[in-house]
Amino acid sequence: MPVSQHIFREYDVRGVVGDDLRPDVAEQVGRAFGSQLREDGRGAEPTVALGRDNRLSSEDLAQAFASGLRAAGAHVRDVGLVPTPALYFAVHHLECDAGIQVTGSHNPPEYNGFKMLTAHAPFYGPAIRGLWKRIETKRFATGQGSYQSRPILADYIADVVGRFKLERPVSVVIDCGNGAGSLAAVQLLEGIGARVDALYCESDGRFPNHHPDPTVDANLSELIARVRSTGAELGVAFDGDADRIGAVDENGEIVRGDYLLLVYALDALRSRPGEQIIFDVKCSQVLEDAIRDAGGVPIMWKTGHSLIKEKMRESGARVAGEMSGHMFFGDDYYGYDDGLYSACRLVDVVARSGGPLSKLLEGVPRLAATPEIRVECSDAKKFEIVAAAVEHFKRHHPVNDIDGARVKFEDGWALIRASNTQPIVVLRFEATSEPRLAAIRDEVYNWLRVQGLEI
Ligand SMILES: [Zn+2]
Repeated sequence: MPVSQHIFREYDVRGVVGDDLRPDVAEQVGRAFGSQLREDGRGAEPTVALGRDNRLSSEDLAQAFASGLRAAGAHVRDVGLVPTPALYFAVHHLECDAGIQVTGSHNPPEYNGFKMLTAHAPFYGPAIRGLWKRIETKRFATGQGSYQSRPILADYIADVVGRFKLERPVSVVIDCGNGAGSLAAVQLLEGIGARVDALYCESDGRFPNHHPDPTVDANLSELIARVRSTGAELGVAFDGDADRIGAVDENGEIVRGDYLLLVYALDALRSRPGEQIIFDVKCSQVLEDAIRDAGGVPIMWKTGHSLIKEKMRESGARVAGEMSGHMFFGDDYYGYDDGLYSACRLVDVVARSGGPLSKLLEGVPRLAATPEIRVECSDAKKFEIVAAAVEHFKRHHPVNDIDGARVKFEDGWALIRASNTQPIVVLRFEATSEPRLAAIRDEVYNWLRVQGLEI
C-alpha cells in the first residue's frame, strides 16, 4: 500500500493507526530516516535511540521502525516504553546520533506518530518532507544494522531527581491523564521530596478517564477539584507523552503557559539578571513587560517547539517556553522540552518561595484575553490572509511579522497567524479591559470577513 504524503507534517509524522499509519509505513519511514542520517554524515553507521509511548499500537510500530533503521545500516538502541523527554535524554546519555519516539502525543488513542531528532538539531519541516520524497523515489541506503534493548527510564529518573532537593515538602496533585508521564511522574516528584497526590497516573494508552491534553480546560476539571478539596499548593498535568506541562494554583485557577513561563523566568532572573527569555507569539504582553521590568531580555519568537529550540541555540538563551506548555531549560538541564522536569522545577520554585503557587505571580497584572481561536481556512489561503493582514494593519499600527501578524494596539494586541500543521488561521486577543478586547476583536473579525473568512 502506498505511503500517504499528508502524514509528513511540520514537526512530526502523524496519522490514524491502521489507516495511513501502519507497520509497513513505519518500516519505510525508519528506512528513510536511517538513510537520511547516513547521507547527512552522522556516522557511516549511525546509532539511533528508539522509544515509544503507551498507546496500544506503539510497540508494533516501534518494531517496524526499528527494522527499517536496521535495513538502512543504523544501530538501534531500544529504550522501551518511555515519556518523550526520556527519549531525548537517551540520545544525550547514550551518545546516540539521533532519536525517534513513537508517540501520538496529546491526540486521541486512534492516532499515533513519530517524533524524530538528531543529536545536535531538531528534525522538522523540509527534513520531514524529505523523508516522504525519499520513500517515493526509493532512495534507501542498505547496510548491516543492529538492535539492542537498552532500558533508559531508571537513568532518566536518577538524572532529574539528582538536580533537586526540596527545601520543604510541597504538596502537589499530579494528573498524568494515564499517558506516558505515568511511568515516571510519581517517582520523580516523590524522589525530590514532594508530597504527591496522584490522579490517573496508571499507564493506560486508551486514556479511559480524560484526554491527556492540559491546554483544554475541561481536561483539568478533576485536577482543579482535587487541589481545592485537599488544600494542595499546586496541581500539575501533562500531555500524553509528557513533553508539555499544565498547571493550576492552590485556588484551582489555571496558570496558562505564558504566566507559567513567567514564574520560571522571574526565578531565573533573580539569580541571573540580564538573562534572555524566549517565548512564542501567542504569549501575553504581560510576560514581555514583566521580563523587562525584572531586568531580563524578552525575545518573542515563532510558535513550534523545534523552532524555539533552534532559537535557543542561535541566541544562547537558556530559558524558553510556549503558550502550549512546552518549556525549555538549558541552564540546569539539556534544553529540550520536558514536562516532568518542568514540574519538578516548578515545585522547587514553590518550595523556595514559601508557596503557594499564586504567590509567585502576586502583583502581576491580569489582562482581558481570549484563548486561542481557531478559524478554518485552506492551506493555500491561510498564508495569503496573514500576508494581507501584515500589510493592512501596519499602516496604522506596529506589526511584528516573525510568525503571522501580531498587531500592537495602544491598549492591547491581536494575533493573526497561519497554523503550521492544520488548515487553520489562529487568532488571539488581549487588552487592558473587556470593552477594549471586544473592540479590537471586532475590528480584526470585520477585516477577516471582508477577506472571505467565515467567523
Ligand atoms: Zn506532547
